[in-house]
Amino acid sequence: MKDLYTLEDLRHWETATAGEPLPIRLGVFGDPVAHSRSPQMLNAALEACGIPARYCRLHIRPEEFAEAARLLPQAGFIGANVTVPHKIAAMNEADVVDENARKIGAVNTLVVEGERLLGFNTDGPGLMRAIRAEFGVDLRDLRVMVLGAGGGAGRAIAAQCALEGCERLVLVNRTLEKAREVAAELAPYFKGPRVYGPLHRLEAVPWEETKLAAQLTQTDLVINATSCGMKPTDPSVLPESILQANLLVFDTIYTARRTPLVEAAQTVGARAANGLSMLLYQGVLAFEIWFNRTAPVEIMKKALSSA
Ligand code: NAP
Repeated sequence: MKDLYTLEDLRHWETATAGEPLPIRLGVFGDPVAHSRSPQMLNAALEACGIPARYCRLHIRPEEFAEAARLLPQAGFIGANVTVPHKIAAMNEADVVDENARKIGAVNTLVVEGERLLGFNTDGPGLMRAIRAEFGVDLRDLRVMVLGAGGGAGRAIAAQCALEGCERLVLVNRTLEKAREVAAELAPYFKGPRVYGPLHRLEAVPWEETKLAAQLTQTDLVINATSCGMKPTDPSVLPESILQANLLVFDTIYTARRTPLVEAAQTVGARAANGLSMLLYQGVLAFEIWFNRTAPVEIMKKALSSA
C-alpha cells in the first residue's frame, strides 16, 4: 500500500490499487495527512476482525474534496474519515447528515450507502469517551473550560459539552470574537435551571492571564483544543502559575506523551492526559458506524501506541 494516495488515484482506483492483497475500501481524507495514525489503528482493527478490506491515507486538497467524496461509491468504498481542512465541506457534501454532526457543525466520518453519502461526527463523542476513560468522570457533571473554542476541534468539543449539558462551559479563544460566536450558537443549551451559584453557565472569556486564573478557580476540567503545544519548543498554553492540583487537564494534542501543558499540569499535581485517547475513541466510533459491530478497542489502542 502506498503511504499517500491522491485524487488522480481515486479516479482510477482499481488500477491504482491493483496488486494489493486486500481491497482498500476505507481511508482518511486530509491536507496534510501524511502524519495521520488512523491507518495503523484501523488496519489493526480490520485485521483482528477478519474483515477483508484495508484503510489508507488520501491527500486531498480543499478544491478537490467535492469530486473525491463523490468518487467514493464508484471506487467501492465503505466509507471514509475526514480531517483538517475538510470537516465543514464534508457536511455540505453529505446527502444525509446525522443530527449530532449537524449540531456540532462538522462531519468527520462518511458512510457510503449506494450512491449516497451519510455524514457523522465522532470527534465530540470520542472526546466524551476519552474523558471518561482518562478520568472516570462524565462531561455532564463538570465545569469545563475549552481553550481554542473557535477552532475546528474546539467547536466540536464545545458543542459536545453543550449537548451533554455540562454544568458550566467557559469558551476561550485567542481571537475572542470566534469564542463569542460559538457561545451565541450554544446559548440555547444553557437556558435550563441548573444554575451554578451566581455565575453564568456559559461564558466567552478573553485570553488574559488574570481572567483565566479567576475562571480556573470555578473549573473542573480544562481542555486544550489549540494547536499551541504541537511543536516541542512551544510553551505550555497555560502557565504553571495559574494551574491547580484539583484540575483535570486534557490536551487534545498527541504528538508527545507529555505535551508542554500535560507537563505543567503534572508539575502542580493535577491529573492530565494527552489526546491519544480522543483519537482512539473517534476511530472506535467510526469503525462501529461502518460495520455495526463492537470495535476491538484494546487492539486499536496498542496499534496507536506503537505507531
Ligand atoms: P484549527 O481549526 O486551525 O484551530 C486552531 C486553534 O488554535 C484556534 O482556536 C487558534 O486560535 C488556536 N491557536 C493557535 N495557535 C495558538 C496560540 N499560540 N495560542 C493560543 N491559541 C492558538 O485546528 P483544529 O483542527 O481545531 O486543531 C486544533 C488542535 O486540536 C490541534 O492541536 C490538533 O492536534 C488537535 N486535535 C486533536 C484530535 C484528537 O483526536 N486528539 C482531533 C482533532 C484535533 P485563533 O482562532 O485565534 O487563531
